Amino acid sequence: MIEVLYPFFVLGLLGILLGIVLSVAKQYLTVEEDPRIDQVEKLLPNYNCGACGTPGCRAFATGILNGEVKNLSRCKPGKAEKHFNPILEFLKDHPNADGSKVDVKI
Ligand code: SF4
Repeated sequence: MIEVLYPFFVLGLLGILLGIVLSVAKQYLTVEEDPRIDQVEKLLPNYNCGACGTPGCRAFATGILNGEVKNLSRCKPGKAEKHFNPILEFLKDHPNADGSKVDVKI
């Protein structure tokens, strides 16, 4: 009669085991990302149109912060007052981890 409960035990045990594996994997496989990327992305138009030559606004924001993007005006729909100046202000207050300024201009 107890054999009927075996699948529940096995599946429960499997669930617990996979939960442990996933939590351990998260510890070791998590990629640390610059928290400023989210904020710069929010300041962009967020059309994800690709007119700047990147796959989208997040890639453009990442490029700004890692120094690949030097001119914000590559973002064609972006406006200086609405988008670029707030980004420059934000970057002025949030320099790189080593204290250097993010090298970008309009
Ligand atoms: S051009 Fe501007 S709006 Fe379009 S994907 Fe690039 S950053 Fe985003």
